[in-house]
Amino acid sequence: MSLDKAGGRFCSGKRTSLPAQRPFPVIQKVVASMAHLQEEKLRLQEELLALQDKLAARESEEIAVSIQLRGQVENLKANLREQAQEIGRLRSELGGTDAEKHRDLLVAENERLRQEMKAREGELRELRRQQAACRDCTHLQENAGLQERLCQLQREAEEARAKLAELELEVQQKTNRLAEVELRLKDSLAERAQEEERLSRRLRDSQETIASLRAQPQQIKYIIKTVEVESAKAKQTLCESQSRNQYLQEQVGMQRQVLKEMEQQLQSSQKTAAQLRAQIAMYESELERAHGQMLEEMQVMEDEKNRAIEEAFSRAQVEMKAVHENLAGVRTNLLTLQPALRTLTHDYNSLKRQVRDFPLLLQETLRSARAEIGQAIEEVNSTNRELLRKYRRELQLRKKCHNELVRLKGNIRVFGRVRPITKEDGEGPEAVSAVTFDADDDAVLHLLHKGKQVSFELDKVFPPQASQEEVFQEVQALVTSCIDGYNVCIFAYGQTGAGKTYTMEGTSTNPGINQRALQLLFSEVRSKAADWDYAISVSVAEIYNEALRDLLGKEPQEKLEIKLCPDGSGQLYVPGLTEFSVQSVEDINKVFEFGHVNRVTECTNLNEHSSRSHALLIVTVRGLDRSTGLRTTGKLNLVDLAGSERVGRSGAEGSRLREAQYINRSLSALGDVIYALRSRQGHVPFRNSKLTYLLQDSLSGDSKTLMMVQVSPAEKNSSETLCSLKFAERVRSVELGPVSRKAELVSWPSQEQLEGDLPGSSSRGHASPSPGLPSGRSTSIRRKLQTSA
Ligand code: ADP
Ligand code: MG
Repeated sequence: MSLDKAGGRFCSGKRTSLPAQRPFPVIQKVVASMAHLQEEKLRLQEELLALQDKLAARESEEIAVSIQLRGQVENLKANLREQAQEIGRLRSELGGTDAEKHRDLLVAENERLRQEMKAREGELRELRRQQAACRDCTHLQENAGLQERLCQLQREAEEARAKLAELELEVQQKTNRLAEVELRLKDSLAERAQEEERLSRRLRDSQETIASLRAQPQQIKYIIKTVEVESAKAKQTLCESQSRNQYLQEQVGMQRQVLKEMEQQLQSSQKTAAQLRAQIAMYESELERAHGQMLEEMQVMEDEKNRAIEEAFSRAQVEMKAVHENLAGVRTNLLTLQPALRTLTHDYNSLKRQVRDFPLLLQETLRSARAEIGQAIEEVNSTNRELLRKYRRELQLRKKCHNELVRLKGNIRVFGRVRPITKEDGEGPEAVSAVTFDADDDAVLHLLHKGKQVSFELDKVFPPQASQEEVFQEVQALVTSCIDGYNVCIFAYGQTGAGKTYTMEGTSTNPGINQRALQLLFSEVRSKAADWDYAISVSVAEIYNEALRDLLGKEPQEKLEIKLCPDGSGQLYVPGLTEFSVQSVEDINKVFEFGHVNRVTECTNLNEHSSRSHALLIVTVRGLDRSTGLRTTGKLNLVDLAGSERVGRSGAEGSRLREAQYINRSLSALGDVIYALRSRQGHVPFRNSKLTYLLQDSLSGDSKTLMMVQVSPAEKNSSETLCSLKFAERVRSVELGPVSRKAELVSWPSQEQLEGDLPGSSSRGHASPSPGLPSGRSTSIRRKLQTSA
C-alpha cells in the first residue's frame, strides 16, 4: 500500500513537472495497476466485513436457540426426576412387578440417553467454537445448511422426548390407578375377615346359647324358638356376608383382569419406548454423520480459504514485484528522459517565442503578399484590358474583312431552284422538262423556250434532284451571320406552283429553310453559350394587297402600320406586331402552327390566298457577350413571296385584278430596291411597297440578301420560267457596277417588261433599257473579281 501510495505520489509529481500532452506510458500503466490493486483490496475488505456481520448475526441467533433448547432440556430433566421419584415411591408401596422392572430399565435407559445428550451438547458447543474459528470461510452457506439440518434433528429429538414423557405420564397414571385398586382390595379383604370373625363369634355365641337352652327344656323351647329366630337372622346375615364375599371375590377377579390389561399396556409401552430408543439411536447416528460431514466440509473450506489466501498473497507479491520492477524501470526511464525533457522544454520555449512572434510575421507576410497580389491583379487587369482592346479590334477587323468578303461576293446573291416534274404538269410532251443544266458549271441553266435555248447564269443553280438539306447547306452561312448581328433576307421568288413554299417551309418530314434555319440558330447559340447570352424571338406576318397583318396576334385581320422609331435612330418598327420568344424546335413548331391556323381562318381558299400574299417569318437574334458587354441584334427575314405570274395581263377584273396589281407593284418595288442598293444609288425607294418598307433595315447597309428563284421545268410554264430567270439574272447582274450614276437613271423593269424583254421574242410592251450587263460579261467580271481577290 505504501508502495502504491508512493507510486501515486510519484506519478502526480511527474504530471506537474511534464507538459500534459507528453505522458509516460509506463508510469501510467504502473499507476493504473496500483490503483486497481488498491480497489481490489478495498472490495475484499468490504466483503469480509459483510461476511463477519452475517456470521455474528447467525451466531447470536444460534445462541438464543441453544439457550431455549437448554431450558427445555432442563425442564425435561426435572420432569424425569419427579417421575423417577414417583415411581420409586410407588414401587415401595406396591412391591416389584414385571412392569416395574421394565419401567426401571426404561428409567435407566433414559438416564443413559440423557448422559449421551449431554455429551452431544458438549460436542455441539465444540463445533460452534470451531465454526467461530472459521469465520473467514467462504462456504458459510453450506455451514448454515448443516446447522439447519442439526436444528431439525434436535427438533425431532425433542419431539421424541416429549412423546417419551407422555408415555411415562401414562405409565404413572396407570400405576396410580393400580395402587388405588390394590388398596381398595386390601380394605375389602380386611372388612371381610372382620365380618367373618364377627359372624363366627356370633355363631359360637349362638351355639353356646343353644347348648344352655337345651339344658332348661321350657326355657329351652322358648330359647330354641328364640335361637331359631335368632339363628334365621344370623343365617340371613351369613348369606349376606357370603354374597358380599362373592362379590368381593368377583371384584378381586376383575381387578386382577385390570391388572393384567395394565401389564399388557405396560408391555406395549415398553415396546414403543424401545422403538423410540431405536429412533433416537438413528437420529444420533445421523447427527454424528452430519457432524462428521460438517467437520470435513469445514476442514475443506479451511483448506480452500488458506489456499486462496496464499494464492492472493503470492499474486499480490508477484504483482508488487512487477510494480516495483516497473517503478524501477520508470525511474531509469525518467532519468534518461530528463535530458530529452530539457531539450523539449528548450524547443517548447523557442516555439513559444516563435508563436508569439508569429502574428507580427504573419501580418508582415500578409502585407507583402497583399501588395504582390494587388500588383499581380493590376498586371493581369492591364493585360486583360489590352487583350480586350485587341479582341475588339480583331472583332472589328473580322467584321470588316467579312463585309469586304461579302462585298466581293456580292451582298445580294441569287440562287435558282428547279423543282421536279410533278403530276400536275400533265403527261406527254407537255411534261417534258424545258430546263437543262451545265454539267461543268453549277451556276448555269438552259431554258428551251419556243424552240430557242436561252442560258442564264446565277450564283448557284439547284437541279430538281437537289435535296432540302443541300439547299440549306448553301444558305446556312447567311443564317449564322445573323448571330453575329447581321440582317439577312431570304426571298423565295417564282410563279405559283414553282416550289417557293416547298423551299421555305417544306413538309413535316422534310422541312425547308425556315425550320432548318431556326434549328441551326439554336445549335449555334448553344455552342456559344459559354461566352454569350442569346434570346431568339419570332414574328409571323403576311402582306396581302399592301396590308400588313400579324399572324401571331390576337386579331390577325387587323392592319398594322410601319412606323419610325420615336428615338430618332431612323429605325423602323411595327407597333402591335407579336414577337414570340422561342427556345426549342417545339416552340417553333407551335408558333408555325399558330400562324398557319390564323392564316387559314382568315381566308376561304388557302392555296389561292397564299399564292397572292407575301408570307414573312421574322427571326430576331439578340446577343450579349458576357466578357465584353458587347450587344448584337441580327434579323433573319424569311419571305415566301406571292406568285410572280402575270395575271393582270390576261384581262382579269375586280379583286383579281387588284391583287395582281398589288403583287406586280410590290415585286417591282422589291426589284427596284435591290437594284438601287446594288448599284449604290443615293436614293433607295423602300417606301414604294409595304414589303420593302418593312424590310428596309434588313436590305440596306451591310445586310445580306438571298433571292431563291423557283422555276418549274414544265414546257407549258416556260414563259413564266423565262420571266423569273430574267428577274433573277437582272438582280444578280446589278453588281459592283462602276456606272452607279448611270444606274441611278434607270429603273427596274416591271413584270410586264420582263416578259417583253425576252431574247428573241417578238417585242411586246416596252423594250427594257437593260441596265444589266449581258450574262457573259457579268460572268467575266465575277471571275475577274474572284481571281483578284
Ligand atoms: P409555290 O409555293 O411556289 O406555289 P409549292 O411549294 O406549293 O409552290 O409547290 C408546288 C408543288 O410542287 C407542291 O406539291 C410541292 O410539293 C412540289 N414541289 C415543289 N418543289 C419541289 C421539290 N424541290 N421537290 C419535290 N417537290 C416539289
Ligand atoms: Mg406557295
